[in-house]
Parts: sequence; C-alpha cells; structure tokens
Amino acid sequence: MMENCLFCKIIAGEISSEKVYEDDTIFAFLDINPASKGHTLVAPKKHFSRFTDMDAENVASLFEAARKITAALENALLAEGSNIGINDGEVAGQEIPHVHVHVIPRRKGDGGRGIKSIVWTEPDTNNLKEIAEKLRRAL
Ligand code: AMP
Ligand code: ZN
Repeated sequence: MMENCLFCKIIAGEISSEKVYEDDTIFAFLDINPASKGHTLVAPKKHFSRFTDMDAENVASLFEAARKITAALENALLAEGSNIGINDGEVAGQEIPHVHVHVIPRRKGDGGRGIKSIVWTEPDTNNLKEIAEKLRRAL
C-alpha cells in the first residue's frame, strides 16, 4: 500500500466505494463521476503508478478482470459496446497515479465517439516505416 494514494485507501476499505468485483489481485468499483451509466474502474491491488511499471502477471489479471467486467456490464446494464482504456501519465489525463482501467459502457445514440476522439494531432504519415523501425529497435 502506498501512503496518500486514494485508490490504495479504497482498496484497503479505508475510503468507501461501490465495489463491483474483487479477487486476490484486483479490485473494481464504480467511478464516482461516471462518463456513462456503469462506468467502472478496474485496478490492481498492488500499487503501480504507471502501466509501464507493471509486471506481466498483474497485467494479465488486470485485463482478464476488465474483460469479465465489460461482459457483465454490457449484460446487466444493457450496453451494446464499451470503451476500455487507461490514461497513462499526467499528459494523457491520468489524475490518480494508481493504474486503473476505465470500462465505459456505450449505448446507441449516446453521442460519444471512439478512442481517437481523445487526441488528434494530425502527425505526418509519410514516415510510418521509420517510426515502426525505431519502435522495433526499442523493443
Ligand atoms: P484518471 O483520470 O484516469 O486517473 O481517472 C480517475 C478517475 O477516478 C476519474 O474518472 C474520477 O471520476 C474517479 N474517481 C476519483 N475519486 C474517486 C472516488 N473516491 N471513487 C471512485 N472514483 C473516483
Ligand atoms: Zn495506490
């Protein structure tokens, strides 16, 4: 547990939340300020500030829990689809520095858009080969 971390406190039960799922490594609860009905946050119990800090086992359990919760949300709360994602880093909109996956149920006619509506900087597309090469070297 990380001191002064809101989500560590929620996971420890020191701050109340509307829990929807819990297992050995995962805790999921309703977002207090939801983007749509049922908006759920899925978090590892262990404190990781950034997605890139996580180990493979925790990533696997995080995304398997997100998958299960997405299916349950769509069934129980009548959604036709969902946006599933992480704001990783302050520049990307992360407000709480404890990794969490947002599961945002989507319904026909809700007026929302897809993941590329988060940011659109119109980058150069003539150099995709160089970009891919740079990335392959970094991996
Ligand atoms: P992010 O910007 O990805 O870090 O998302 C943080 C999310 O946490 C926001 O969608 C907030 O509405 C939500 N949030 C903040 N405080 C609480 C809380 N006490 N209980 C539940 N959700 C919260
Ligand atoms: Zn934490």
